[in-house]
Amino acid sequence: MFATLSDRLSDAFKNLRGKGRLSEADIDATAREIRIALLEADVALPVVKDFVAAVKERARGEEVSQALNPAQQVVKIVNEELVEILGGETRRLRYAKSGPTVIMLAGLQGAGKTTLAAKLALWLKEQGRTPLLVAADLQRPNAVNQLQVNGERAGVPVFAPEPGNGVGDPVEVARQSLEEAKRKLYDTVIVDTAGRLGVDADMMAQAAAIRDAVRPDEILFVVDAMIGQDAVVTAQAFLDGVGYDGVVLTKLDGDARGGAALSIASLTGKPVMFASAGEKVTDFDMFHPDRMASRILD
Ligand code: GDP
Repeated sequence: MFATLSDRLSDAFKNLRGKGRLSEADIDATAREIRIALLEADVALPVVKDFVAAVKERARGEEVSQALNPAQQVVKIVNEELVEILGGETRRLRYAKSGPTVIMLAGLQGAGKTTLAAKLALWLKEQGRTPLLVAADLQRPNAVNQLQVNGERAGVPVFAPEPGNGVGDPVEVARQSLEEAKRKLYDTVIVDTAGRLGVDADMMAQAAAIRDAVRPDEILFVVDAMIGQDAVVTAQAFLDGVGYDGVVLTKLDGDARGGAALSIASLTGKPVMFASAGEKVTDFDMFHPDRMASRILD
């Protein structure tokens, strides 16, 4: 991801190299190239506009620096603006002060929720927590089984409805999982919910009902970075329909152009908190805006 954007941005900066002072024309030309680079990376137009305007304004007003030449100053400005649109500071999980912390996952089918649930569980386990995975995705016939397989890989127990005993209500499963967590002293409950292929009123209503039943400490919206501009539309629909505290980007190992990562935090006002980059249970980490910006400008 970001390979093309990285290349295009470094080309844009190349033209500034060796210049002692930046003229208005230099700044305009560079701004134009940054604009094209971002648009080609699928960044949403309003985000691109704001970004370029901010870079231009700051480049014009930049004080003469002893330490950095003009080209380096522009790179520094772009870096800081990238960090800003990626959500600023790293946003860490908030844990409940007492009782189990409840983390609910929401997103479209295929976004990578079930895979992510296990990755997050393993990551939490490595932080010394005792997570419980909850199979509240009863829409897809195989989802419960898939979570059980992934849970096993992560070495984390899965709370699921017993097959055939009539527990087909995901809201009830989620509610019962909290009781189980309190009884057995799990300190973090990760609730996997059902998605559909597209934004759907029933899906939103079910996710909202689960939310109301378990009152999550964190709701994470899981989105496939490969879906490009659609990610932003879906993100807004989930914000309106369910609400969430943070975003998880999945499939960053693919050849996505990065637009989703760069647009979502800025347009929804919700930070990207985690990134998932592979099918293995360990391909997962916190999302650090500053590190991502540095990677783009590397
Ligand atoms: P869900 O419907 O939201 O629960 O999505 P799944 O967890 O079932 O994931 C859908 C597909 O995407 C599966 O084939 C996963 O193996 C795959 N997948 C999930 N996360 C990643 C990722 O970060 N990278 C890649 N390459 N594949 C992923």
